[in-house]
Amino acid sequence: MRAIICGAGIAGLTAAWWLERDGWQVTLVERAAGLRDEGYLIDFFGSGYDVAERMGLVPALRRAQTRAKAIEYVDPDGHGRGKLRYQSFDVAFRGRIATIMRGHLERVLHDSLGDRVPIRYGTTIDAVRPDIHGVDVTLSDDTQQRADLLIGADGIHSRVRRLVFGPEEPYLRYIGYHTASYVFTDPQLRDQIGDRFLAVAVPNRQLGLYPIDDRRLAAWLVHRSPQPALPAEPAATIRSTYVGLGELADRALAHCPTGAELYYDQVAQIEMAGWNRGPVTLVGDACQAVSLMAGQGAAMAMGGAYVLAEELRRGGGVPAAMDRYEKRMRPFVRAKQRAGRRTAHWLVPNTGWRLSVRAAAFAAAALPGVPALLRPALATSSSSVVTSSAEPVGTAR
Ligand SMILES: Cc1cc2nc3c(=O)[nH]c(=O)nc-3n(C[C@H](O)[C@H](O)[C@H](O)COP(=O)(O)OP(=O)(O)OC[C@H]3O[C@@H](n4cnc5c(N)ncnc54)[C@H](O)[C@@H]3O)c2cc1C
Repeated sequence: MRAIICGAGIAGLTAAWWLERDGWQVTLVERAAGLRDEGYLIDFFGSGYDVAERMGLVPALRRAQTRAKAIEYVDPDGHGRGKLRYQSFDVAFRGRIATIMRGHLERVLHDSLGDRVPIRYGTTIDAVRPDIHGVDVTLSDDTQQRADLLIGADGIHSRVRRLVFGPEEPYLRYIGYHTASYVFTDPQLRDQIGDRFLAVAVPNRQLGLYPIDDRRLAAWLVHRSPQPALPAEPAATIRSTYVGLGELADRALAHCPTGAELYYDQVAQIEMAGWNRGPVTLVGDACQAVSLMAGQGAAMAMGGAYVLAEELRRGGGVPAAMDRYEKRMRPFVRAKQRAGRRTAHWLVPNTGWRLSVRAAAFAAAALPGVPALLRPALATSSSSVVTSSAEPVGTAR
């Protein structure tokens, strides 16, 4: 059986790993010129952690863990607005959590594939022609491929989705914020930040800084915006939106790049009535984006890819497997999307009162014994799509 996967990100690489292991002949098509190492920091638990464990990747993820030891919120004058040590998350999740750069997760997945699956970097899909036996795909390098299954794993603005399911608008639910991130070198500021994730927070705006290595920092920004449309010049918008956040923020803003090194996007979710059409299916953000407000998109992308592969392995034909995959994933995705919308104004408080309540909640969570008490509440948010205990554990080859 042959599969073409469009997008060698978190979902695409995971799907490729499992399908190849199950004997599929897989081709990965990726628009980017190569691996992108950086990105932004993600908390990785629940489904993603479970899948990574089955792939034998937890030790590699541990080695890629962030150097930041605590999250610390401050106001523009540097006064504390809440602090929590990452160790508390570890206790609350019984050690089944990793905080890593998205790019490091991509690299770990990529390296685990070795050269068993060819990745055609700098390539996208130009045309898709499904029929009752399979699908013909035209790649941007003008070559043709035939497969039994085409998987769109090309992220929230998926091209496969647009080609097969139509324009993005009806599927994208904007949830009211824009976000940005970039990596920059500033050894002096790096020393000032130390081993912290330091976030300057005011109502409706937040700018976070955290260390990548001894010289480099990453900036993560999020602000409320009534306008879903992206600005023509994101760097200029960032500089004007985040004024008045104090000296550290000003220094970080001076490093804001203007080109492709600046990630800038809407904060949005993807909701679709169906994820499958003939021999074409979608995985990850392409069909189930939960947004950074829910904070489990990468974990859910790995979960979705794993469930798809598991259902294909169970047999009964590709269409039946795709149906079962969608049915299994939907309740988890819906619950996380709802939770993300509900908690957005706590992640980015919209009033001074909410900022104070968040600071108080952080202070309470830092008290001895409280992280362990949070376990029952966190059990719901970290519920996993990985259910079958019979599934053999993979090894990183
Ligand atoms: C600021 C921020 C913070 C986040 N925090 C967390 C967190 O704490 N925890 C968590 O689990 N998740 C988090 N997420 C979400 C997470 O990053 C995504 O949900 C996850 O990366 C989705 O994986 P994916 O493989 O579906 O898509 P992506 O990771 O976006 O990968 C898609 C791939 O497809 C490629 N591609 C795109 N278009 C094409 C095309 N036309 N042709 C070929 N290839 C194409 C892209 O280059 C990319 O390699 C966060 C997201 C953001 C923005």
